[in-house]
Amino acid sequence: MTTATATLAAPAATASAAPATSRRRIVVADELGYCWGVRRALDIIQDAASVEAKIAPVGDVIHNPQVVERLRGRGVEGAASVDEAVGRGFKRVAITAHGMGPHLAKEAEANHLELIDTTCPLVTKVQRLAQKLVRQGYFIVVYGDAYHPEVKSVIAWSGTSKALAAKKLSDLPWNARRGEVGEGKVAPPRKVAVVSQTTKNVDELMAFANELQALVIPEGGEFRLCNTICEPTSERQTALKKLVERDRVDLILAIGGRKSSNTARLADVGNRMGVTSYHIERPTDIDDAWLAGVESIGVTAGASTPDDVIEEVVDHLVARGYPAPEGGIRPVDPEYVPAY
Ligand code: SF4
Repeated sequence: MTTATATLAAPAATASAAPATSRRRIVVADELGYCWGVRRALDIIQDAASVEAKIAPVGDVIHNPQVVERLRGRGVEGAASVDEAVGRGFKRVAITAHGMGPHLAKEAEANHLELIDTTCPLVTKVQRLAQKLVRQGYFIVVYGDAYHPEVKSVIAWSGTSKALAAKKLSDLPWNARRGEVGEGKVAPPRKVAVVSQTTKNVDELMAFANELQALVIPEGGEFRLCNTICEPTSERQTALKKLVERDRVDLILAIGGRKSSNTARLADVGNRMGVTSYHIERPTDIDDAWLAGVESIGVTAGASTPDDVIEEVVDHLVARGYPAPEGGIRPVDPEYVPAY
């Protein structure tokens, strides 16, 4: 696997240098940007890519428009389905880091396509866990966004109609505790297990699981919560909390593609912790009015945001009079493998 060490480029000339007494600063989160799984997936697909033998990832290879554009130049162009890839003349398709249901490999084989699987092993773990829980007789609830490819893939791999995606209790067909009877009351089955989309927030997962558990446990019910939020996601959430609690920043910029749910989540968490936080895709999204009176700016980025986009945002802030952050972006450890 090829990896790059990310360091911030030297700051560009400043348009409005900070006065000597300024307490302005940019604080870059300890963990931000590409997660291990996305880096791994991009390495696999870039190593396999060639303009002579184009690859069609089914779905978005990454929720970042700048990276999608760069990959296009190397012969990697997304397709909505295997049928579409075949129709556009592709001979190779890829599964993205988010994973896909088992149907994709079958469709690729039926169409004599080469399949490149970049599913993050931490997503594969959730898919296999869901299968195991089904064999043990559990109804599976995937805590996450029903439309998200990862959640769809976990449900597809569970291979049962007794699996649903939910983010709140009202997304489920149950509205009563086990043993409760009455008109319109629907209680859950005896065995229910919850797994999580890997990028969700642990506090919100626990709140959801506590509510659901209260419905399942009565009358001999069995409830299991499997915290499958991945380690890189947990580290990003912890690093964000440090920006607020340790570094006491006045404003947070969470950088990532508009479709990146984990970037939106970082901005959400920042706002909930009482610090005005914006989800931006690129430096031009920053409104100078946001910076009025702001001394310290925290910078974080979603799991699909490349280092150079983070650097562009920092350069933009430096050009507005904020000193470049000491130490730059945390270097990538090429030996790192998350726990799973
Ligand atoms: S967010 Fe976690 S599970 Fe998803 S690709 Fe990254 S490392 Fe893998």
